[in-house]
Amino acid sequence: VFQLSMPLNFLGTVYRELRQSLLDMEVLFNLRRNNPPIRDPVGAPPFEFKGGSIRFEDVDFAYHPQRPIFQSLSFTVPPGKKVAIVGPSGCGKSTVLRLLYRFYEPSAGRILVDGQDITKIQLDTLRQAIGVVPQDTPLFHADIMHNIRYGKLNATDEEVKTAAVRANVHDTIQRLPDGYKTKVGERGLMISGGEKQRLAVARVVLKDPPILFFDEATSALDSRTEMELMKNINANLVDNSRTSIFIAHRLRTVVDADHIIVLRNGRVEEEGTHETLLRLRGLYYEMWLAQADTIGQEEATNGARAIEEAK
Ligand code: ADP
Ligand code: MG
Repeated sequence: VFQLSMPLNFLGTVYRELRQSLLDMEVLFNLRRNNPPIRDPVGAPPFEFKGGSIRFEDVDFAYHPQRPIFQSLSFTVPPGKKVAIVGPSGCGKSTVLRLLYRFYEPSAGRILVDGQDITKIQLDTLRQAIGVVPQDTPLFHADIMHNIRYGKLNATDEEVKTAAVRANVHDTIQRLPDGYKTKVGERGLMISGGEKQRLAVARVVLKDPPILFFDEATSALDSRTEMELMKNINANLVDNSRTSIFIAHRLRTVVDADHIIVLRNGRVEEEGTHETLLRLRGLYYEMWLAQADTIGQEEATNGARAIEEAK
């Protein structure tokens, strides 16, 4: 009985969470399965969007007590701006998103969104305000129409198609054997990483949240596909009416950010624009130099391949 009830409980929790957060499956798949459900305080007000500023205030956090991830982490994301969070792999970039989404709680400090302590408001209303494009978007074994509709369950077919047009994936879908009725996901049609990420963008276009998180959303793509997707994201999702946060591994996708936060060893190591950070000659500068090498190599390889193909 025990063995059977565990997964069923998990499914129940997932289902509730799904409904609450308008199916932010992306984030949900990273959820630790034994997390106790979070209950809102009695009489908690809904989250009230006022531009989308985010503040981490002296946040301590550890997955395991013996290994702290953040120690007194503080930073501010101004409203309506494009902000990047960068830093070495494993420094806690995705953890920032998990804490904001309240999959985990800090052991000290507070997280404020538009001045509201996230532990004091209705969690589902907060999650509804945040859209996420993760590194690898899970697709369900369902048709494409359904897969995009997870962004907004009550969207009409027309709304789904409009979102697909804006995400630059509509033409591709129409060329598939069954168009929007083509089954994807497990045992479904295999689609490329770039197409998958454009479906993910269509989902958030449909959801139209005031706060957007891209968690290394383009890092699994080759550089040309990545640049195309970034162009599309910038044209269709990034504007002054919402805050967009890019967790980035490849720095050249964030050189145009209004503000870049560099994390290391659980703290903000430095922050500023691309130019000011380069002038600091610190960690960002080092990362930039290290990546300039690989970018050069990648471009050289692509160039060689193009010449090879042209022959
Ligand atoms: P980043 O996104 O910057 O690469 P993460 O925020 O995913 O890093 O992880 C920060 C650190 O926490 C890493 O060392 C990672 O191994 C660890 N970590 C991430 N998730 C968990 C978890 N669920 N349990 C224990 N440790 C974790
Ligand atoms: Mg990460």
